[in-house]
Amino acid sequence: MAILLRDSRRASDTKVAPLVPLRTGVVLPHTEAILTFGREKSTAAINAAFSSNRLICFVTQKNPSTADPTIDDLYRVGTLCTIQRTLKTDDEINALVKGIARVRIEDIRSKSPFLLATISEIPEITEASDEITALTKHISEVLKKAVNMGKPIDFLVFMRLMSGVSPQELADQITSLLDIKDSEKQRLLEVAEVKKRLQRVDNYLSREIKVLEIENSIKLKTQKKFDKSMRETVLRERMKTIQKELGEEEEDKEIIELKEKIKLAKMPDEIEKKALKELDRLAKMHIYNPESGYIRTYLDWLIDMPWSVKTANNVSIENAKKILENDHYGLDEVKERVLEYLAVMKLKKIAHKNKKIKKQEKMVGPTILCFVGPPGVGKTSIGRSIARALGRKFVKISLGGIRDEAEIRGHRRTYVGALPGRIIQGIKNAGTKNPVFMLDEIDKLGVDFRGDPSSALLEALDPEQNSEFSDHYLEVAFDLSEVMFITTANVLDTIPPALQDRLEVIRFSGYTFDEKFNIAKRFLIDKNLLANGLKKTQIKIEDTVLERIIERYTREAGVRNLERESSKIMRKVATKIAQGKKKKVKVGLKDLDGYLGPTKFSKTIAEKKDVVGVVTGLAWTQSGGEILFIEVALMPGKGRLILTGQLGEVMRESCKAALSYIRSHWEKLGIGKDSTQKLDIHVHVPEGAVPKDGPSAGVAIATALASALTKRKVKRAVGMTGEITLRGRVLAIGGLKEKVIAAHQAGLRQIILPKDNKKDLVKVPEKIKKAFKFSFVNSLNDVFKTALR
Ligand code: ADP
Repeated sequence: MAILLRDSRRASDTKVAPLVPLRTGVVLPHTEAILTFGREKSTAAINAAFSSNRLICFVTQKNPSTADPTIDDLYRVGTLCTIQRTLKTDDEINALVKGIARVRIEDIRSKSPFLLATISEIPEITEASDEITALTKHISEVLKKAVNMGKPIDFLVFMRLMSGVSPQELADQITSLLDIKDSEKQRLLEVAEVKKRLQRVDNYLSREIKVLEIENSIKLKTQKKFDKSMRETVLRERMKTIQKELGEEEEDKEIIELKEKIKLAKMPDEIEKKALKELDRLAKMHIYNPESGYIRTYLDWLIDMPWSVKTANNVSIENAKKILENDHYGLDEVKERVLEYLAVMKLKKIAHKNKKIKKQEKMVGPTILCFVGPPGVGKTSIGRSIARALGRKFVKISLGGIRDEAEIRGHRRTYVGALPGRIIQGIKNAGTKNPVFMLDEIDKLGVDFRGDPSSALLEALDPEQNSEFSDHYLEVAFDLSEVMFITTANVLDTIPPALQDRLEVIRFSGYTFDEKFNIAKRFLIDKNLLANGLKKTQIKIEDTVLERIIERYTREAGVRNLERESSKIMRKVATKIAQGKKKKVKVGLKDLDGYLGPTKFSKTIAEKKDVVGVVTGLAWTQSGGEILFIEVALMPGKGRLILTGQLGEVMRESCKAALSYIRSHWEKLGIGKDSTQKLDIHVHVPEGAVPKDGPSAGVAIATALASALTKRKVKRAVGMTGEITLRGRVLAIGGLKEKVIAAHQAGLRQIILPKDNKKDLVKVPEKIKKAFKFSFVNSLNDVFKTALR
């Protein structure tokens, strides 16, 4: 059978030819391509065509994964080609083919052993026009540009195109070279009009040029960067070689400077060695190595640490006494304890020098001072004075909220952004190795999964270990044995016991009204004049003003707010003087509203008249003494006890114990036998946002319950505190001084206290004591007798 024959039933220009579907790629007229065939039908078609007239039609599949395509799976326009050469392997045929014409697939005549299709040639629509000439010229130029910019093209094909070909061939050849999808190439194949084809090819080619431009500019930039660093490295190396040749291996200026600084820092030998080793690493390192920055920071730390900088440590007890007195009003007990501590320190030092202390004793070392008390009572301030008295530097760090051991001991250097811990930072800030170092809020230290900061702290404080305190960042030991540590806390109970063991506790209690007044008048005002740019002659604050601030603008154990409010006045006065409105300002009572606004607290907060079911209790919190009200309400119910006001576990138990006591004494108290069974009893402690706990409100709770159930009124000016037992005994409590001071501020007149606390009353200033009638009690019975009408 002749494969290509004129179809007698169809129009004269239809032909029949073997048809081979292509999974990928589009063969275009005028172009040559090497194709590989593996499918049985395809190899059969190639063999048949090659052994006859060599004509064959290729058409692209719509979907490359279709294995045995039918006519619907093929595009309808393909290319008629001649097979120029074939190369057979075991199961594949490679064929060099050349496109002759675009053809339409009209029909499939037979499907086996290969596809035989009726095809009709699509004639090229072309005309000779100036536009087409211009277009071909332009496209040739653009192609040249693309090749110059790196578009890969077969050299022979390029030469052929440049030597001038027909517009049809140019369009088809370039189409086959374009970097576009098969579907787009197929669309170009389907365009019979040459001008249109040229225009589209031009568009695609221009787009490629743009992409090439962007690619090239990116390449250029990276290349430049690379070149620069290459050049530097080469030059650096060359310089080193030249210097070596000349025998003058000169080091970098920075390295020389660092080396000098290391020598000047007077580090212990071993540490200096380590520093020099790091310096050596830095010197050998490439300038762009990110690690060089870390090494520099590390060396700066080593250099800045005061390895051997000390201030003279002259402990003159006389001098210390003078300084403590000059800086602080009152605080007699504290001052005395501090002086004792300093005296012991001095004696130990002398003994140490004379080697009279046995090794064992020396090891015990000094205990650490711990100042415990509410905020603003002068803990920090005493610390500063101690430093001044000893002629040492003072630093303070806050431990509040620290949960991570690394905050104390630093992060390892491998950690990004690592720094030394706060102890080492503090020492660096002090600039000496023997400062007075205050660790604030030691009671607020936390523990969690990131380690236990208190154990790191213990190591810092422990004289047995702290001569070799190791910080993770520093990596080398720092000697903390000459540091005088002072810790501060608001309360003792939350300090870990192991730490507490090391501490010598000195308690600071809250100030009385008189003490506050004197501190303000003699210290705070003068101290803050300078800070506000005022001279003593420019301002006069009357005594009544200070009294009013203490009573009506502040409610605190210390003097922090007092200092803040008086500073506020000074700032406003300073503004007036600076504006030239006045030369001198006198601040009297009548002006106070203008300076500080309306008062913040009323003078007495005790009840205005006697009432049933409300009792004033005295409490002791972290911020000093306070009064609190216990309220009891009764309502018809089923004997339930309702407790509100954020009461802690201990306080809830006090409520239950108090109620049981009262119910078991119904007869004596004169309440009905089962009366509490028909009632619900609600105990509430106002200021619900503040959690309250502790046993010392027992007496007050019992009295409030008794008052509510017996309907007897509570004397309004009575305050009380004391723990109770189920049998009605009243037990001693802590924080007596603070509680009495709070009662005084609240305007109470009588205080009921456990008998066992009588001895503690000596700590309360005489003047305050005089304002009260004290009733010391042993049992709840006594309390009810005293407090209820
Ligand atoms: P704390 O450390 O206990 O919270 P501070 O030492 O910061 O308190 O004291 C707050 C302010 O009150 C400081 O300006 C301090 O000088 C001053 N101050 C406290 N107590 C006295 C005092 N007894 N005499 C003089 N000034 C005092």
